Amino acid sequence: MASLTTFTDDALIALDTLAGHATGLVNPTLRLGVTGLSRAGKTVFITALVHNLIHGGRLPLFEAQKSGRVVRAYMEHQPDDTVPRFLYEDHVAALLERREWPESTRAISELRLTIEYESASGWGRLFSRGRLALDIVDYPGEWLLDLPLLGKDFAQFSGEAYDLSLLPVRADLSAEWRTLAGSVDPDAPADEVTARNLAETFARYLKACKDDSRALSTLPPGRFLMPGDLDGSPALTFAPLPNLPEGRAKPGSLRAMMERRYEAYKTHVVKPFFREHVAKLDRQIVLVDAMQAINAGPEAVADLERALTEILACFRQGRTGLLTGLISKKIDRILIAATKADHIHHESHDRLQAIVRRLASRAAERASLSGAEVEALAMAAVRATREGTVTQGKDTLPVIIGTPLKGETIDGETFDGETETAIFPGDLPASPDAILKPNGNQIRFVRFRPPKLERTAEGVTLSLPHIRLDRALQYLLGDRLA
Ligand code: GDP
Repeated sequence: MASLTTFTDDALIALDTLAGHATGLVNPTLRLGVTGLSRAGKTVFITALVHNLIHGGRLPLFEAQKSGRVVRAYMEHQPDDTVPRFLYEDHVAALLERREWPESTRAISELRLTIEYESASGWGRLFSRGRLALDIVDYPGEWLLDLPLLGKDFAQFSGEAYDLSLLPVRADLSAEWRTLAGSVDPDAPADEVTARNLAETFARYLKACKDDSRALSTLPPGRFLMPGDLDGSPALTFAPLPNLPEGRAKPGSLRAMMERRYEAYKTHVVKPFFREHVAKLDRQIVLVDAMQAINAGPEAVADLERALTEILACFRQGRTGLLTGLISKKIDRILIAATKADHIHHESHDRLQAIVRRLASRAAERASLSGAEVEALAMAAVRATREGTVTQGKDTLPVIIGTPLKGETIDGETFDGETETAIFPGDLPASPDAILKPNGNQIRFVRFRPPKLERTAEGVTLSLPHIRLDRALQYLLGDRLA
């Protein structure tokens, strides 16, 4: 296996880590990574977390808050000048003022929230009040799926990408790219237009896999789906070339050009991302839209499990290759959270949780994850629905009530984005194994608008409602506020 790193990478990480520890002594910090594939709910999660902490939301299972030990939480300047700031204020305005979902994560961003708290122990209180700087780092999960590329050369990457594109659930989506790739001669002189055509067709195939009906969890290269600020740059203008013969590329050929760009992608895009961002994290939450996958069928669920395995492998300790070994050294807790649980009735919440728990433990086992504790839960960072019952003849059905987004449809009815509607979402299967078998897993799924916030009699707006966000906070931060 190719060495995954060079001495300089490790030296740089070691220096950073030392510097981090040194400052950590003065002012304890916790770097929390928030990731998940696109549309999993990262932006909504971070916005709800910060809003609930700043405004003292209802968080009964978050012990420090419940016992009144959180004195205050406020935003501070983030420590990293080169990372864009998470646009918290814009996202809150969208959610609360316009009742619209905020703009989703497209690249990395960061926010620092400082929490002042009273220590739980008498001893702790003898010293001064505790203060924890929580650095929240939001980044696309697609970028994590690039880590395995570091150990693969261009021919291997090409071969694997081609094999996956032939899977029944992908074959029709990849047909255009396969035809085009099959018609080019890798030994022909390098040509920018052909390279661009190939890259664009390949990216189109990857994007089609993400569609609601397919709900596949995609393949590398991650920046083809989430380019960040690299859109259109040569490091992204490449694509796998199937059926490459053994041996070296002819100088000046299309294959040589693609190989060079693939290597540039690894060196200038993938490695720096891991070194500068992932390596510095202390804890990690991975959000998954399990319900979308369940609705799309067993192939999508299997694909989600594959993606989750690769994501967890990024946090593995002692993985061959020093870069990855160092990366995972610090991460001690990982939470896998199924989002959007407000789409189903609470009777199904535990079922959803059992399903993610199952996916997470299988993925953790396959990724040989060790050294980090993994927990799984089902939650909704923002609860857009209430629960109720509807009587139909002799039956009483549990329903959820919310305002479907404009344009959503159910049974031929199209919603206007203003009208509240009761929906019977259906049940998740009682056995987590059932989701890996075909048929019968459909839940009725419509997207809702964010909730209207209630006001108390005194006119005070209540905080953003959620499901089990407090449990997530307790797991991720609780011990650091003891
Ligand atoms: P990101 O790509 O991971 O940043 O995903 P977002 O946070 O932007 O979420 C994508 C979409 O999922 C949102 O626009 C909402 O429609 C939906 N969503 C995310 N979180 C929740 C939630 O807690 N409840 C509900 N009902 N919908 C959510």
